[in-house]
Amino acid sequence: SEPRRNLPLFLESGVYRFEDSNAVFVDPVRALNRSLTRFSISPSAYYSRFFESNPCDVANGGPNGRKRKRRAKKPVVLNDRERVAAQRHQDARPYLVKAHESLLGATELRSFMLKMRGELAITEDRKSLPPGVPPSFIELGRLWQAPLYEMTLNFLQEKLTGDGGPLIIHSKEQKVLPIFDNLVHNETKDDSVAEFLGSQYVIPRESCFYMSDLQQIRKMIPVECDARFHLIVIDPPWENGSAQQKLRYPTLPNKYMLALPVQQLAHREGALVALWVTNREKLRNFIEKELFPAWGVKFLATFYWLKVKSDGSLICDLDLFHHRPYECILLGFCDKEDMEPRDLARLSNIQDKRVLISVPGEYSRKPPLEELVLEYIPGTKPARCVELFARDMRAGWFSWGNEPLHFQELRYFQKR
Ligand code: SAM
Repeated sequence: SEPRRNLPLFLESGVYRFEDSNAVFVDPVRALNRSLTRFSISPSAYYSRFFESNPCDVANGGPNGRKRKRRAKKPVVLNDRERVAAQRHQDARPYLVKAHESLLGATELRSFMLKMRGELAITEDRKSLPPGVPPSFIELGRLWQAPLYEMTLNFLQEKLTGDGGPLIIHSKEQKVLPIFDNLVHNETKDDSVAEFLGSQYVIPRESCFYMSDLQQIRKMIPVECDARFHLIVIDPPWENGSAQQKLRYPTLPNKYMLALPVQQLAHREGALVALWVTNREKLRNFIEKELFPAWGVKFLATFYWLKVKSDGSLICDLDLFHHRPYECILLGFCDKEDMEPRDLARLSNIQDKRVLISVPGEYSRKPPLEELVLEYIPGTKPARCVELFARDMRAGWFSWGNEPLHFQELRYFQKR
């Protein structure tokens, strides 16, 4: 039977550890809320697809998407690459099945998930999200005027007003800063609010961002060695031919990733690298043969993100060839001059094929994976963490990308 203490721990941390497998269930809303002081993430805004009866429909063209015609089944003949991909899937399958069984067996957690879904449906009106379209950082950042755009960073007074209605900012101090190609840092121990072209953005305590195109990425490498990073999370805009993706952000050819200065970003005490990848075999092959060697990253393990609906069922069939209900995270490390032998030993004992289960948020939004990797991050604590191609910010983290403020817009939050 389930130990009863797991649920209270989950409510506090957003992470539920199963006793009978190497999997964890994560509620990104709870986990990310630990980054915030005055605000919390609005569950209905995060789980905007939580309410869809079949999120797979969303992946295939939205709830209104036309029904696919069932084609007569032809015997499937796999080419060499597809055979390797099928083998990778077979290797992962027992771990994914076991993780899913653990979730289905965790009755306490599952009834909590269903209750949460019921509460969200009743209490949160999704349509109550503030109207209006926030500026597209991707578009603005490409304009010749980009260097002239400024934002106002407000350091807040004790109390915020504007319950239910628009937020009224009472700031004790303001800073006006260029928003593109510039390091913006909230050094305080309190959330601050940035204003830009009529929209507001939550900037968590001790977090910073650098918003630029890949061409400018070298400018964000900290000059001081000790300001470099022990954990480097990378979620590149891999090409995948999905029309859904093209609407949301531009993609880049694989070889552009060779230009990421991973070695230069790594701390002298070593760095754990977590790379999100798609299930395309061509990409996996490129990473193993070219990208990790070019970055000087040594491969450690593969973790999986298994996507479920709020009733605990998988978002689509586990064995669908072109739409898997999971994505992979490849873990590797940069061995640096001041890396401690005990950190190296811990990394070499990393458990392979761990599974993180969660209900997906918006398109391509990844769940936080710190809890799974925390124990392996080398170096002095607190670890210095960076996310490349970020669309949000965390307390204590550095976010880089062409839209790191995207999910920081006030519409995704509520006041505590
Ligand atoms: N990890 C993010 C999340 O959980 O929301 C998703 C990242 S998404 C896969 C890739 C990001 O890379 C998008 O925000 C996209 O706009 C950004 N991107 C695309 N081309 C870029 C470029 N040339 N320079 C910087 N960022 C770029």
